[in-house]
Amino acid sequence: RSVRKRAVFVYTKKDALSQQQTMNIISALRASIRNPEQVLVHYQPMYDVQTGRIVSAEALMRINDEHLGFLNPSQFIFLAEQTGLIVHLTQILLAKVCTLIRQNLAKNALEYISVNLSGEDFTSRQMGQTLLSIIQQENIPSRKIGFEITESVVLQSYDMVADVMLELSLKDIKFALDDFGTGYSNLQALMDLPYAYVKFDKSVIQGAMSNPTMLTLLSDMLHKLGKVLIAEGVETEQQLEMIKKIGIERVQGYYYSKPLEKEAFLELVG
Ligand code: C2E
Ligand code: CA
Ligand code: CA
Ligand code: CA
Repeated sequence: RSVRKRAVFVYTKKDALSQQQTMNIISALRASIRNPEQVLVHYQPMYDVQTGRIVSAEALMRINDEHLGFLNPSQFIFLAEQTGLIVHLTQILLAKVCTLIRQNLAKNALEYISVNLSGEDFTSRQMGQTLLSIIQQENIPSRKIGFEITESVVLQSYDMVADVMLELSLKDIKFALDDFGTGYSNLQALMDLPYAYVKFDKSVIQGAMSNPTMLTLLSDMLHKLGKVLIAEGVETEQQLEMIKKIGIERVQGYYYSKPLEKEAFLELVG
């Protein structure tokens, strides 16, 4: 405690303000865990490249705080992870997604809705059971839920992630390797873990516009491993043409749709 006080003391006015902002955001996160209606879920559809149909969607978190207003993930996910509050927020978001599926999408053709998991969500092997019990409480088929995990999370705590993935895969829950191509890739993890989907990060898609060799090679390899590929952050027709040519199956991006509020999303898929 005294260390933190001293740190504030030597900060400049501007830094002190950002320290204050940090504390305000952490308060907002705590408040939203007490009042889950402040946790908002936006849904971004994913499309089948061949048919142009919506096949799934990604749930993306926002916070609506009474003092700070609307917060985007770039403002709070990092702090939610640092404080461990992400565990509660993930559970709130998952419950909301399950409720939406039960109330509005029970008979819908959507394959699944995916939820992002952070490394900090993996606090113990118990977390698989915790996530399952949330899904079961809402009484929806577990195959309607997917989880997105980045490679760095996998490498951070390989054994625990592998256990939880295996446990949930047995219940037909789908996993996607998120943000692929942004860091060092571990081929072994890709082969050993039960990912059904691999999502190329938007930086990879953008980079491939000037030189598609890397994306083409990676796609061929991932297809040989039996993965279904998703291109993230597709914004232009040229990008769409390129991923079609390479044979990437699915796309998510502003070209088709931004993340939508629940009502707009339901209007689109309902
Ligand atoms: P992500 O998982 O890579 O999610 C995709 C992000 O790219 C989303 O930003 C989405 O709005 C944005 N995006 C989608 N299409 C396009 C496009 O065509 N162009 C551009 N420029 N951007 C596009 P968002 O919603 O701000 O989320 C940012 C990040 O925050 C996510 O990146 C994810 O890492 C994290 N995040 C969001 N919601 C959650 C959550 O519920 N739990 C956890 N742990 N992390 C989350
Ligand atoms: Ca994601
Ligand atoms: Ca992603
Ligand atoms: Ca990304």
